Amino acid sequence: MSKSFDPVFDNLRKRGHRITPQREVILQIFRKLPHGIHLSADELYEKMNELGYNVSLATAYRTLKLLTSFGLLRELTFAEGHKHYELKEDSMPHQHIICVNCNSTLEFEDHFLEELGQKIGVKHNFQVIDSQFKIFGLCPSCQNQD
Ligand SMILES: [Zn+2]
Ligand SMILES: [Zn+2]
Repeated sequence: MSKSFDPVFDNLRKRGHRITPQREVILQIFRKLPHGIHLSADELYEKMNELGYNVSLATAYRTLKLLTSFGLLRELTFAEGHKHYELKEDSMPHQHIICVNCNSTLEFEDHFLEELGQKIGVKHNFQVIDSQFKIFGLCPSCQNQD
């Protein structure tokens, strides 16, 4: 794969980060995901191998962490010890409602929560990168099960 002219990557390179073609591919995969879809490292690993990229699961994990630290992805923990990732760039800040039974997720936007996260962070002298608000419950179809 040739060098890209993607402004996001140019920017990162200017800031001294090494962006390998593999890292670009991973970001492209996230960009092509339908809205509201989140990938785990395992799912990303499977997708990459399906596309013909031979990466190890460890590489998938590492790259996801790295892209999160660059502010390109957002790391989400919906269930115990199970992390999912989603694209952060140009996506509207949003929060999640998670069904504890089937793990389905719903996204919602609430500016009050965004501002609150900022405010609380600043109060503790943090530079806020992301604030996440999660609601756990039973989705309508799980409520209707016996
Ligand atoms: Zn989301
Ligand atoms: Zn459910």
